Amino acid sequence: MCECTLSAAEQQAVELDTLRHSTAHLMAAAIQELWPGTHFGVGPAVEDGFYYDVALPGRHKLSTDDLERIEATMRKIAKQNLPLARAEVSREEATAQFTEQPFKEELIAELPEGEVISTYTLGDFCDLCRGPHVNYTSKLKHFKLTKVAGAYWRADASREQLQRIYGTAWKTADELASYLNFLEEAEKRDHRKLGKELDLFSFNELVGPGLPLYHPKGARTLRLLQDWLRTELIARGYVEVITPHIYKSDMWKMSGHYDHYKDDMFFFQVEEGEDSEGNPKVTEYGVKPMNCPGHVMVYSANLHSYRDLPMRIFEFGTVYRNEMSGVVHGLMRARGFTQDDAHLLVRPDQVQGEVLGMLDLVDYVMSTFGFSYTAELSTRPEDSIGTDEMWELATSALRDALEAKGIAYEINEGDGAFYGPKIDIKLKDAIGRIWQCSTIQFDGNMPGLFGAEYRTADNTAETPYMLHRAILGSMERFFGILLEHYNGALPTWLVPTQAVVIPISEDQNEAARAVASELAAAGVRVEVDTANERMNAKIARAQSQRVPYMLVLGKREAESGEVSVRHRSEGDIGAMPVEAVAEKILSEHP
Ligand SMILES: [Zn+2]
Ligand SMILES: [Zn+2]
Repeated sequence: MCECTLSAAEQQAVELDTLRHSTAHLMAAAIQELWPGTHFGVGPAVEDGFYYDVALPGRHKLSTDDLERIEATMRKIAKQNLPLARAEVSREEATAQFTEQPFKEELIAELPEGEVISTYTLGDFCDLCRGPHVNYTSKLKHFKLTKVAGAYWRADASREQLQRIYGTAWKTADELASYLNFLEEAEKRDHRKLGKELDLFSFNELVGPGLPLYHPKGARTLRLLQDWLRTELIARGYVEVITPHIYKSDMWKMSGHYDHYKDDMFFFQVEEGEDSEGNPKVTEYGVKPMNCPGHVMVYSANLHSYRDLPMRIFEFGTVYRNEMSGVVHGLMRARGFTQDDAHLLVRPDQVQGEVLGMLDLVDYVMSTFGFSYTAELSTRPEDSIGTDEMWELATSALRDALEAKGIAYEINEGDGAFYGPKIDIKLKDAIGRIWQCSTIQFDGNMPGLFGAEYRTADNTAETPYMLHRAILGSMERFFGILLEHYNGALPTWLVPTQAVVIPISEDQNEAARAVASELAAAGVRVEVDTANERMNAKIARAQSQRVPYMLVLGKREAESGEVSVRHRSEGDIGAMPVEAVAEKILSEHP
């Protein structure tokens, strides 16, 4: 693309990428100085920074101290104000130059015939690279190395394991400082850390990567989230179904998952029945990575008239996907998770109205948690099925619905699925991070695969269209996002324990239990802390557990039938009758 067609924002992004990628070269030069003989993989710019994959001699494992040494060496080299000098070389010259660098040799061998091969030299370090870079190292000032992680060469688990060193780089000292602050804040609210502190979930090596165990408190919050959404969906005319977790591979062949999604699925075989010669027959089953086929089969199990549509089928469907162990990340990227999944079987004239309804639900859910959000509309790709008419109908239905709701959106030209356009919703959390959760996907393919039909007014058979949609996406991932968004202090209606009754001395234990019973009877999730400890220690514990209400009960309160109420963020809010406390807590439900 010609540079002059870039907008100012795009131009800035290119400059920042150049700065970051150049800092990766600087880091590689420092590593070569500290560990001569290091083999270098690739070192691209990434969001907020850069990385370089390296194999150090003797498989030396990098420590935090090592990162500091690398950084100090980078600063020393940067100050020498060395050029990043470009040279164009022939394939033979390149091969000769990188005989000590097996990963680079592999990359050179794969370069297409006729491609200009360029190298960039920074001091003693020469790298195979297309560029562009900053011209002098003095431009590289505001950077910091952030972490080391494992990475396979070419993301292939059968290849060499490398160390990936991440860093960040910015144009100004202020930008770097505010980014480092952001990282610190994100680390403080890491949901994996909160999950431990609040006793919500854990992982166990015996289970395998990406498969969380939910403890009673975590399970309670997840169920509360589900109950809330279920009530809302039923009010909006959805019907709930329950479908199996495993299906025969024959079904996955029919749905197309066997051809296109097999690597991401778990399969197993069972001996089942006999073949024609009386030998045991082996049947292969696949664990579901998606709920769609089951829902279409529920629809197809009955005859439908055009008057029955739309049919809005939902399920809290648990799915399993074979994510590489290197990419699983707490609840955010797991191998097993539950989608708040729905499939709407609709007539062509109903598409837009149903999309509007879904966007309304998205808005209700996002505003309940105070998330702002934007949308992306992905349109027809080059390889697609279906008629022009279908694509026109679907794409304008999605676009018009976004316009009608006044939702800001961008268009991803040609990025839709081969069977229809889609809307992705991106929300912004309390510290400005963007998360993709909701998706609304038009599908003009799958209903036909499973013979889904409806009878029209003149009694002919038609295939309905389908809309796949999830609002939270993965329930568990959304739980993780909420934990980080609220820094553990979930809304009162979602916390496992809403109130703790704290007797000041043993003499009030009895009265405290009576208060708790009264609250529980009113529907409040309440505990009593009768530990033989000082009141302040009990308050501190409840506070660290993010319990919204602490109800302190001394001699005076026990006699007056009131409790002293302390709120986790507002502090003391005075004494009130137990009944009033219950009312206050229950009123916080959306
Ligand atoms: Zn480069
Ligand atoms: Zn689906």
